[in-house]
Amino acid sequence: MPSPHENTPASALPPVRDREDIDPRGKTRDRSWPPAPEPLPYPVIDNHCHLDFADGDTQLSVQDHVDRAAAAGIDAQITIGSDLEAVRWTASLLAAPDCPSSLRGGVAVHPNEAALHARGHDHDGRGIVGLDAAIAEVSELLRGPGMVVVGETGLDWFRTSRKDEQAREAQISSFRAHIALAKELDLPLQIHDRDAHRDVLEILEADGAPERTVFHCFSGDAEFARRCADRGWYLSFAGTVTFKNATDLRAALAEVGLGQVMVETDAPFLTPVPYRGRPNSSYLIPLTMATIAETTGASLEEACRAVRATTQDVYGWPEAAAA
Ligand SMILES: [Zn+2]
Repeated sequence: MPSPHENTPASALPPVRDREDIDPRGKTRDRSWPPAPEPLPYPVIDNHCHLDFADGDTQLSVQDHVDRAAAAGIDAQITIGSDLEAVRWTASLLAAPDCPSSLRGGVAVHPNEAALHARGHDHDGRGIVGLDAAIAEVSELLRGPGMVVVGETGLDWFRTSRKDEQAREAQISSFRAHIALAKELDLPLQIHDRDAHRDVLEILEADGAPERTVFHCFSGDAEFARRCADRGWYLSFAGTVTFKNATDLRAALAEVGLGQVMVETDAPFLTPVPYRGRPNSSYLIPLTMATIAETTGASLEEACRAVRATTQDVYGWPEAAAA
């Protein structure tokens, strides 16, 4: 299916939507951009961000995000499109002639979106295509330029109740279709697992996990981390690992060590401490990397080197950084 913005330059692609101004606790967020942290001693890749979202009191373009990231030692980014509008936007960005060369992407029908497609209408009651049609479009666009991963897919029993039978079935069948797609296209799979560890594990085992399976924004405890690592899967840590109350998450990281660990922002969400609630972008990864290093007992440079090597193993990209 041809993309609606096929020949739009990347620099002219406006973000698809705004992040809300009200935080989950009902407070108005501080929308100012946090200051840039000290740059990393060795470059890493942001394994998962959403460049289709606008946030902040001043608007940053895709190129601004890329430039700020590069200055902080994040020399590549993977942007994820997780509803159909974002899926098309991501495909257009990556196909644009002036797309920054450090960007790659992935697309999928997010589990919460899968539930909406199965129902046939979005949150505002507007009609949307069925789940099969949505997955078919994802499958088509994954074959386009710059796509390196199928994701994010999985199960979300937090925002969509598992007690809603239609929603549950939709999430499960969507997850299984994406697992099959990752294998068909020989691409890694990025998993969204929210309050669903046991069911995610069960489905991966029943269907057979893709060779490169990545838990985006890993949220399990030490025991679940061990089970994932033992199966050869990868754990990608977001700003949540810096949160004061994230003791279990840091225990999970300490349990598995650096061997199968990646880093991500999930920007514009999950801004690391001390800037929680403010806009997030790849340039803030040094704050998360500092916690990853501290928790695993590595120096910051050792942690960056390990995380980068793992990202390269998973995606076969980017080229090794200059020594
Ligand atoms: Zn995400």
